[in-house]
Amino acid sequence: MPTYAYRCRVCTETFELNRPMSESGAPAKCPAGHTDTVKLLTTVALTGTASRPSSPAPPPPSGGGCCGGGCCCS
Ligand SMILES: [Zn+2]
Repeated sequence: MPTYAYRCRVCTETFELNRPMSESGAPAKCPAGHTDTVKLLTTVALTGTASRPSSPAPPPPSGGGCCGGGCCCS
């Protein structure tokens, strides 16, 4: 379920709610109970798509290999 961030205009508190997309535009009450809130543009944290490791791990330096000794690096 997506997480939406809101900010309360009364107490300027920011808070997050987990709610279905169909209710993303519905009024959200801040933790203090105010209803004068605005939805913030946030990066929706959908599991699996936001952060995926894109950099493959570099090969570990193998000491004692051919290139380590400089025999093939002319
Ligand atoms: Zn509030």
